[in-house]
Amino acid sequence: MAVKRALISVSDKTGVVDFARGLHELGVEIISTGGTMKAIADAGIPVKSVSEVTGFPEMMDGRVKTLHPMIHGGILAIRDNPEHVKAMKEHGITGIDLVAVNLYPFRETIAKPDVTRAEAIENIDIGGPSMVRAAAKNYKYVAVVVDPKQYDDILERIKNDQLTDEFRLDLSRKAFLHTGLYDCAIADYLTKQVNGDNDTLPDIYSMAYVKLQDLRYGENPHQKAAFYKDPEATGGIAAAKQLHGKELSYNNIVDMEAAWDLACEWKDQPACVIVKHTNPCGTALGSTALEAFQRAFDADSKSAFGGIVAMNRECDKETAEAMKPIFFEVVMAPKFSKEAFDILSTKRNIRLIEVPSSEKEELQLHKVSGGLLVQTPDNSAETRKDCKVVTDRAPTEEEWQALEFAWKIVKHVKSNAIVLTGKDVTLGVGAGQMNRVGAADIAIAEAGEKSKGSVMSSDAFFPFGDTIEAAGKAGVTAVIQPGGSIRDQESIDMANKYGIAMVFTGHRHFRH
Ligand code: 5GP
Repeated sequence: MAVKRALISVSDKTGVVDFARGLHELGVEIISTGGTMKAIADAGIPVKSVSEVTGFPEMMDGRVKTLHPMIHGGILAIRDNPEHVKAMKEHGITGIDLVAVNLYPFRETIAKPDVTRAEAIENIDIGGPSMVRAAAKNYKYVAVVVDPKQYDDILERIKNDQLTDEFRLDLSRKAFLHTGLYDCAIADYLTKQVNGDNDTLPDIYSMAYVKLQDLRYGENPHQKAAFYKDPEATGGIAAAKQLHGKELSYNNIVDMEAAWDLACEWKDQPACVIVKHTNPCGTALGSTALEAFQRAFDADSKSAFGGIVAMNRECDKETAEAMKPIFFEVVMAPKFSKEAFDILSTKRNIRLIEVPSSEKEELQLHKVSGGLLVQTPDNSAETRKDCKVVTDRAPTEEEWQALEFAWKIVKHVKSNAIVLTGKDVTLGVGAGQMNRVGAADIAIAEAGEKSKGSVMSSDAFFPFGDTIEAAGKAGVTAVIQPGGSIRDQESIDMANKYGIAMVFTGHRHFRH
């Protein structure tokens, strides 16, 4: 397709002068709006103003610049439709073959901390998306460019007569994605304006995601998969930076989310979590990152093989040295020191990931056929202040510390979940069982001798006294659970029988 006339109107002026120069050198006539025209003309490149084409000045603070039949007729006309050609002739409309537009910076504007609603509204581009959509619709005759990164390729293609139908269709697709995401951002902003910050579940879920990368495969090799990102996210897993190692797999990313979430439960003390198949096999606190790691690893070194490690502190030299002999799929930390990076990056198969902190409360999405379940995150975090002691014996100080630790962890384990811990290290984790006593049996077996003197947490209430009985026999001394079963008394009686101190949190933490 030959390009005789191009319209350029861009807010982001990156590369626009070179692009205009390239077009001019290829004999393309350029028309442009105020600011863009000035940038092009200042560089000594011939350019015609949109006003000259429309016979109208740009007006109303730029709200009306290109919204005119002389422009839109030139973009939308079907060049081989006699009626359209007749209309063009009659009204002196000249065809526009290329439209290069990017939009007012709406996202950037609303990201400013003290932005007013009026300022946000003024940054809703009207004429730009109209031109982009018109050109994208008429892709058979018009090339539409919304991304400055494409300028060089476009020039090259014009030069080599490679602006093919297929390529213009792809440009059209990109253009509609561009305007679609733009409108999603406006709709999200206005929804917040209407409903206030408290309404986290709006009537329409309009968030759009853009592809970050294709993944080699999904959960299994015969499944296709890709990783998408919320364009507004600045923290979290999708914004994480891979410093080293092979491409992340689908399962790596799922496990990274689980590991990072749990590691972030502790702020004041170094914590380390090792996850396998979304469940923590070892979790520990320590006075240093090294100590936390060592203890989390020792908690269940058998399961830790090939695990995902998440730490809430910088990965330093000592920790890296301790990790080096062990096979881990991924190590995540807020930062890696230079020495730690040098040590671990000698291993080809380990992935090193720096995760930026994220304070934003993100909704949790779960796809069901034909729809989407959306919920606020499970961020209720009970401490001893929220608990009610229900047994003859109250927990000792040491037991309270262990119970608070165990309670944080059980929230991150698949239901039915039972976790046995010491004061600051896991001893046995029973995850994803179909009955609670089964989960307890696994945790107790895993803890072995260490279950004597341990504490136990349960993500939901005990329907019968049998789990407490198993715990009592294993030597568990204190239990934390939500309470709320009609047979709570059975469990309380059983706890008293074994001298167990039991507390109710009043909050359940199912995780499916
Ligand atoms: P300039 O910096 O060239 O003055 O303005 C470029 C911006 O104006 C582009 O982001 C483009 O999308 C936008 N634009 C072009 N025509 C119109 C129009 O008629 N109305 C509005 N509101 N924006 C326009």
